[in-house]
Amino acid sequence: MASKNNLPSFTRVLIAFCLVLFVFLFLPASLSNLSEILKYLLLVGIIVLLMMYNQVLGSLASSLSPVQDMDQSESENANVVESNRTNTLYDNLKQLVLSTVKALNPKFDSAIYMIDPEAGVFSSQGSNADDFLDSIPTNNSIISSILQQSSTVYQKDDKDAWNEIFENKPWRGSECVIGSPISLHGAVAGFVLTRIDHFSDLTDKDKSVLGAMGKFISHGLGSLESLEKHIMGEENKARILELLSELNFKSDESQVLDHFKYLIRTFFYYDRLTVSLQNENELNLVIKLVDGIEDEFVKDTEFPSHGTLHGLPTVSGEVILSQNWKKSHANVARFNSTEAPTDFQSVLGVPIMIDGESRGSLFIESMTGRPYTKADEQTFILIGRVLGASLHWLFEYEKIYQNATHDGLSKLLNHQTYKERFAEEIQRAKRFQHHMAVLIFDLDKFKRINDTLGHPYGDYVIQTVAKIMSENVRTIDVVARYGGEEFAIILINTTAEMAMVVAQRIVDNIAEYPYSMDGERVRMTISGGMSEYPTHSENLKDLIDLADKAMYNAKQNGGNGIIIHSNGTATTKSTQNG
Ligand code: GH3
Ligand code: MG
Ligand code: MG
Repeated sequence: MASKNNLPSFTRVLIAFCLVLFVFLFLPASLSNLSEILKYLLLVGIIVLLMMYNQVLGSLASSLSPVQDMDQSESENANVVESNRTNTLYDNLKQLVLSTVKALNPKFDSAIYMIDPEAGVFSSQGSNADDFLDSIPTNNSIISSILQQSSTVYQKDDKDAWNEIFENKPWRGSECVIGSPISLHGAVAGFVLTRIDHFSDLTDKDKSVLGAMGKFISHGLGSLESLEKHIMGEENKARILELLSELNFKSDESQVLDHFKYLIRTFFYYDRLTVSLQNENELNLVIKLVDGIEDEFVKDTEFPSHGTLHGLPTVSGEVILSQNWKKSHANVARFNSTEAPTDFQSVLGVPIMIDGESRGSLFIESMTGRPYTKADEQTFILIGRVLGASLHWLFEYEKIYQNATHDGLSKLLNHQTYKERFAEEIQRAKRFQHHMAVLIFDLDKFKRINDTLGHPYGDYVIQTVAKIMSENVRTIDVVARYGGEEFAIILINTTAEMAMVVAQRIVDNIAEYPYSMDGERVRMTISGGMSEYPTHSENLKDLIDLADKAMYNAKQNGGNGIIIHSNGTATTKSTQNG
């Protein structure tokens, strides 16, 4: 990547290039109408943008590029170690995006490109397919079109531009790409490019998730940069960076908070540590972590953000440092007005900033001992920032992951993820010699609901049925929306015979449920088929086919029942009660 020294010359070359472009492309045209003037403004905009890239990438290069000079002094070496740690974070971030694209649809290929101002190209930062080029010229018309609009699907017959990006996969006509710009300091710095071989494979949800990928990296880079800015020059920065590099982006909230608990323990003495985050309605805070003295305000307790000491940093965005909070903050309660008096004296509280907004409070409280100082305050602010950035990553990841793996309407696993989970479960069952029951369900005469009561009513029924299914299985079992009004369940470590009780309960509960929306009531029944691993087959596809055929038999029998595969013979069937 570029070093800071040669950036100005690059800027000059770019400006010269743009001016030449300007003269050749635009001058012969008339200036008499508005669209011409707009074109000029656009071009000036592009020049400004390119200059901004240049600056952005200068700082990005210095903060994210791997080791540059080998003859560094001791202190420079320390910086390299830290820089490498942030590189690991950056690598995690990229890996996460690439694997999320695959989870969405294994047929989708993606790559991440960042601008390389020195070479005048976008260069690849990683991909999950071999045939993405290492670099793409910045003037490629497909890329320009993607970057001019934010997040777009590009499918136009522009063979040359396409072939410039995918040499080994020449344009045939059905493919498309989705580009999701990555920005830094408000300027585009790169993009996530996803290639889809068949335009028709792309769902609306895919579009929205793929379109968000660049934003995710942008947030991540922004956080990384701000972390570096704040961590550099601070004492104990190594410890904080170490913590961050240990954080896995698949960590859950409590793992992240636990990491921070140990970190804070190494920096401070406290009698109690409390982390609170805003709940959905933003009026209350929820305690997410308590370390030290346990009182009535344990984990998961809610308290009002207004009028409370622990709500104050969240509400005001300010730091609370007091050697005797009861005196300095006499007008607020600690957690709520009915709380029994406590002996805490010195307190230090900072806001937890997530995506630029104050979304929680981080507090340490001490009864006796040394009161907290201004120096403590600086370190604690820094820890609060790092915690906010980590939680931000986590929440963004959760959103993307949830969208990629779950069906938006029913909230069940989607078809793709079901198959992946199924394959994993077969491996596990093989290892532990377990049985599994594989169930396929299809709602009976569902189409009439849509036809008579409308699509929203049909959606409501699908949601309700999904809920009934989830409520009747264990958390280890797998429940998925297999298709429109088809569902699939895998009961882990269970024989078909044992599974019959669960399956029958699902069939009965669906038949008995009083569906009602806008005063309209309906009855709904479902048919199911079941196969057993490994008794009927050890193969995923065969198990689904056998369960599907058994389900079809149940429908032939009048529906509202469940049949276990047994070479075509009906094994069990529920009584009609729909
Ligand atoms: P059978 O008893 O043979 O299963 O008949 P059916 O009417 O249930 O089966 P068919 O496959 O003919 O109809 C399924 C319908 O489900 C067709 C489709 O419009 C509807 N459908 C699929 N997905 C959705 C959805 O997300 N929401 C709604 N409201 N309807 C959906
Ligand atoms: Mg049906
Ligand atoms: Mg169907």
